[in-house]
Parts: sequence; structure tokens; C-alpha cells
Amino acid sequence: MWKDNTAIKRAAAKEEQVWINPDLLPAKEAFEKLNITMANIEDAERRLDRFAPFIMKCFPETEERNGQIESPLVPVPGMQSVMEEKHGAKLSGRLLLKQDSHLAIAGSVKARGGIYEVLKHAEELALTHGRITENSNYADLASAENREFFGNYTVQVGSTGNLGLSIGIMSAALGFRVIVHMSADAKQWKKDLLREHGVIVKEYESDYSMAVKEGRKLSDQDPMSYFVDDENSVNLFMGYAVAAKRLKKQLEEQKIPVDAEHPLFVYIPCGVGGAPGGVSFGLKQVFGDHVHCFFAEPVQAPCMLVGMASGLHDRICVQDIGLSGRTEADGLAVGRPSSFVGGVMTHLLSGIFTIQDEHLYPYMRELEETEGIFIEPSACAAFEGPAKLLCYPESQAYIREHGLEGKLGQAVHIAWATGGRLVPESVRAEYRKR
Ligand SMILES: *Cc1c(COP(=O)(O)O)cnc(C)c1O
Repeated sequence: MWKDNTAIKRAAAKEEQVWINPDLLPAKEAFEKLNITMANIEDAERRLDRFAPFIMKCFPETEERNGQIESPLVPVPGMQSVMEEKHGAKLSGRLLLKQDSHLAIAGSVKARGGIYEVLKHAEELALTHGRITENSNYADLASAENREFFGNYTVQVGSTGNLGLSIGIMSAALGFRVIVHMSADAKQWKKDLLREHGVIVKEYESDYSMAVKEGRKLSDQDPMSYFVDDENSVNLFMGYAVAAKRLKKQLEEQKIPVDAEHPLFVYIPCGVGGAPGGVSFGLKQVFGDHVHCFFAEPVQAPCMLVGMASGLHDRICVQDIGLSGRTEADGLAVGRPSSFVGGVMTHLLSGIFTIQDEHLYPYMRELEETEGIFIEPSACAAFEGPAKLLCYPESQAYIREHGLEGKLGQAVHIAWATGGRLVPESVRAEYRKR
């Protein structure tokens, strides 16, 4: 019975913890149970390549990467020292930061999945109506006639903020009519920015699940409308998964090996699960058992932990165990997890760390002080993993059971910074005072 599960009891008590996934399997065995593969990731990768000329044309900020939306991977030794001194982290390997916080166009990890799904939808429409072939130069999609064509169609999405930004900005660039259904947690500046792009923003006083439900209902009533379904979308998921192949290249360029002697640990903040799930699925495909994927969630909204630890996935929400689902980490303010992602991650995920809101801000300040990098509070949850990996008895046991004790000196830990670049200076100043 899930009520007797220790991790769920701790979650109900709002305790910070690590939950170690008892169902983790060797990657090969886990993949045999799934019907999505590396071929799906490669398909997504090729589609993004086809769109690169279009992206470069509409968003000149992507020129230096030839229309590829990708972020830097950087060592953060100053942050690592602070974490060791102040937070008792005992990492003997190296800590790196994956700066999806600085991705072009949307300034968050959503620039992967969200933008990919909009592009895929646009491609399908344009191919079906003979406006392009797969061999066309997709920069042509930015023409006045094609924009007018896309203007006949609507794209809708429910969001806590960042997904809305990525879907909204890219849909508007193509010429789609676009409606973003924002949950109560969404920050005002994100709504303002979207309206500047000509996006219709509908505001709800309810949480993310309700915003999604309303958006889906309205979209379903309109045959010309497409709903981006963050809770179930395989497209979004594959857009995120492409990150893994790009990361492999970055690690190679930086001469950082990942193999049996050099384990890779990755820590990714989790909301509904699509972003961390997609990235982790990709990483397991690329690195197999040499990568250990952990999610991070706020103590008031640990939806994936509750869904996976109970095995109930989207049949349970954090409110069912007495939590509010309210958190300063707006990007993670999700009460009910994606059952699709929970299912895919059942045998691939190593575990989940939870963190109290008040512990996000010190990480935020320390990163800015030591490395001069600003990331938003949601993204700071990523640091809880490397800080506590060698502190909790459960994760210590994980290290022992996987024979990793002697290899930690050569290990690499990646904190996945999921958002921040677009946060206005006035909002940053407020955060710094917290
Ligand atoms: C959306 C988001 C996440 C988590 O992504 P999910 O797909 O909702 O799990 C993490 N961090 C930030 C900043 C986000 O905006």
C-alpha cells in the first residue's frame, strides 16, 4: 500500500529526502520494455537540422550556432568549493553546469521540447499542403505567404510559464495564432513578455493541471487548433532527448570520458516530467549504465516522486498526500505527474531529490557570486543532488551497490540549469534579497 511507503510518508511530512528507485534496471533490459528508441531521437535531431535555416533567419541570436538551439556546458569549480564548504557536499569528482538557462529564444530547457513540437506541427501542415518538401530550404517558411498560411491555424498550450514562453514565441514567429493558458503560479513578467509577442494569454486562478484541462477542452472544440499536451506528448519528449546527443559531443570536445571507470551523474529539476524525462531517456540511450540520472523536485510538489514511488503515476497527485503544490519554483509547480514519463522512467531513473523552497535561494546567490551566472529558483533545485548525494544513507547505499565508491574521484556531476536568462533584472533583484 502506497500509504506505508517511507518516501511517501516523508514527502507528506515535507521532509527533504532522496528517493532511490527500487525498479532501476540495466539500461539494456529497461529499453527492451519500451517502444521508443534511438531512432526516434535521431528523427527529431534531423528535423531540427532541417529547421536550422528558418531558426537562424527568425532568430539572429542563433547565428553563431548555425540555427542550432544549444547551450554551453561549463565547469563551475567556484560553486563546487562553496557546496563543499557550506553544504557538506563531498564530491570528489568535478561539477559542471549545463546552461539550458541560457538557451536561445526561450531562455529555458523548454526551448528544446516546446519549440521542437511547434516546428514538427508546422512541418506537417506545410508538407500536407504542399508548401514545402523535406528537401526545401525551410527558411522559405518565413515568407509572407507562409506566415499567412499558418495564420489560419491556432496553437494552444497550458503552462506554468516557461513552456508557454517557448511555444508562444516560436508559434508567433511562424505566424500561428497562439493561446497560452497560464496557471496561477505563472510569473507576471512571463505573461507580459508573451503579450509583447502577440500571444493571447489566458489566466487561471487554478493550478497547472486545471490550466491544461481548460486549454485542451477549448482546443478540442476548434478543428483548426492544435493542443501541445505537455502531460502526454511524445514529440515534446523527443525534442528534449536530442540534448543527450549534443551533450555527448560537448563532453568529447572537452575530453571528458564517460565509461565504466568514469561515471556521469546528472541532476535535473522536474515538473510534470517531460524535460527531465526526455533528457534522461536520451542520456541512457547514449551512455547506458555509465550515466546515473536523478531528478529534483520541491517538497511541496514532488509529483514524480509520489507517482513513481506509489506506482500510481497520474492516478495520484501531491494534494492527495496533503501537500499544497504551491512553490516558489514556478517551473516545478506541478501536482500530478505525466504517466507517460513515469512509465518510461520506471526502469531508467536512479532517484529523486527533494528540496525546500528556502534552500533554492542560497544556491542561486552562490552561483552568481562564484561564477557570475544567474539561473532562476526552479533551476537551482539541480544543486540539491550533488550537494546531498554522499550525505543521505540511501544514496550512499546506491553508490556502494553500483560499485561506484572507488570511481568517484573520476566522476563528473552535471547540474542541469533549466532556466533563467529571460528573468528581468528587477525580478532578479527581488530574488537576491530572499
Ligand atoms: C519546465 C521546467 C522544468 C521541468 O520540466 P517538466 O517538463 O515540467 O518536468 C524545470 N525547470 C524549469 C525552469 C522549467 O521551466
